[in-house]
Amino acid sequence: MTTRSDPTEALPTHRPSPPAPSTPLLSLRGLSVRFRMPAEERDGDRGGRRRGTAPPRYVAAVTDATLDLLPGEVLALVGESGCGKSVMAGAVLGLLPGNAEIAGAAMAGGIDLTTADERTLARRVRGRLIGLVPQSPGTHLTPVRTIRAQLEEAVRELHGLPRRTPRGRLREEAERAADRAWFPLDHLDAYPHELSGGLAQRAATALALVGDAPVLLADEPTTGLDRPLVERTVDQLRLLADQGRGVLIVTHDLAAAERVADRIAVMYAGRIVEVAQAREFFAGAGPRHPYAAGLLDALPSRAFTPIAGMPPELSRLPGGCAFAARCAHATDVCREGVPALLTPSAPGPAATGTGTVPAAPASGAVACHHPLGAPAARPRPKPPAEDLEPVHD
Ligand code: SF4
Repeated sequence: MTTRSDPTEALPTHRPSPPAPSTPLLSLRGLSVRFRMPAEERDGDRGGRRRGTAPPRYVAAVTDATLDLLPGEVLALVGESGCGKSVMAGAVLGLLPGNAEIAGAAMAGGIDLTTADERTLARRVRGRLIGLVPQSPGTHLTPVRTIRAQLEEAVRELHGLPRRTPRGRLREEAERAADRAWFPLDHLDAYPHELSGGLAQRAATALALVGDAPVLLADEPTTGLDRPLVERTVDQLRLLADQGRGVLIVTHDLAAAERVADRIAVMYAGRIVEVAQAREFFAGAGPRHPYAAGLLDALPSRAFTPIAGMPPELSRLPGGCAFAARCAHATDVCREGVPALLTPSAPGPAATGTGTVPAAPASGAVACHHPLGAPAARPRPKPPAEDLEPVHD
């Protein structure tokens, strides 16, 4: 079997200035997701008590997330696996299992995605308001159909075209979507297994672009890719944002986030614990939350020092700060109360506002009783010289 390689040149990687504040394309307000789990059988239950009489358990996958995604912006939602970021993405697309209970709001195009019914999500949201760039294009694409056939089907569905639409119209729209994702038109008649990883990713991105969705949600788009391909994949997302879309990248890959993001939101144990301008976070004053600082220090290009300990189980969160057991700065106050997400200049909770819709946290917001201070107090290791060289195909 031959695998077709990516024939295109490396993408440009220019970094525009962050966009001016404007109306958000996606707004999360106090979004929380709990999974109701079967009650645990306790010691002695088998003896006489019937199973199911104990109270149900809940997994607190996402708690009180408040964020805005702006046009032209790449927002990277980062954190370790299992911290709740993919659940948050699933909540936005209405793709959670039946035992999920959602509170708060997620607004896009005037629709609250948390309360919309399946028909609304299928006909007005998925692909039209929010395009999904999937984690593994290999499983997202249908193996027995060519990329062209899959794009044409998506065109018919998302543009609401009748069955007897002239083939030329479908063809034209499919090629337009392929072109926008930098998928080479002479590969459109290939089957997914004939494509390289990079082209499969572009094919999946083309599918996400068929409906001209203003928001792209990329859920771990670089998983399993080698570094050059990671860079090209996120560079494409950057370019799609530069065309005016809002791009939310859900990732555990901080190096990829550093390459393309305008802003960073850090999640730990289901909560957003820091929101920062990417420039400040990676190259300026640095993270203010000890967990976020630990994530950066774990990078091979930095201190290469993993964070000690393990995250708490989301079904057994501690009463205070969930990071306290792993945090070198923890004090008694940390174990007593969950810190609110605060901005440095505003002593009140960051997620307050006027009217009925609270504001999203400003960049620089941190949920910590003892946030880290100036960079001089925490020098960061210099990257090795070889990491400074760009990597190309
Ligand atoms: S609140 Fe306390 S335990 Fe939590 S991250 Fe801040 S200093 Fe560490």
